[in-house]
Amino acid sequence: MNRDCELCRELLPWYAVGVVGAAERIHLEEHLESCAECRAEWAQVAELARAVQETLRELPSPGERVWGGITARVQPGPLARVDVGSFLLGVSVWLTVRGRHVLLGGDLRLLGRKYRLFAEEA
Ligand SMILES: [Zn+2]
Repeated sequence: MNRDCELCRELLPWYAVGVVGAAERIHLEEHLESCAECRAEWAQVAELARAVQETLRELPSPGERVWGGITARVQPGPLARVDVGSFLLGVSVWLTVRGRHVLLGGDLRLLGRKYRLFAEEA
């Protein structure tokens, strides 16, 4: 794997969630056109990101009253965390309380690195 491939692989999780800068995006897309191995990697990362986002959209919302009750009783800090996959490739979805807000977040683990997919108020 050459340096372009390494850079491409590092950027793919960010590219999947649309947070790559314009210059990096152009370089990445040019590389993907010319490199079949990175295109295959991109297909897997994109599918994983799509599946995570689709699953999260399908989760039922507990409603404002329930969240209000939770945030009133729970101390700040982590509430729950679900890890799927392995050290090489996996996804974590977590809930944490910060002040009076409950944050729902997701991380993508790729080759021992962690990439934030999203973090938003639940
Ligand atoms: Zn490549």
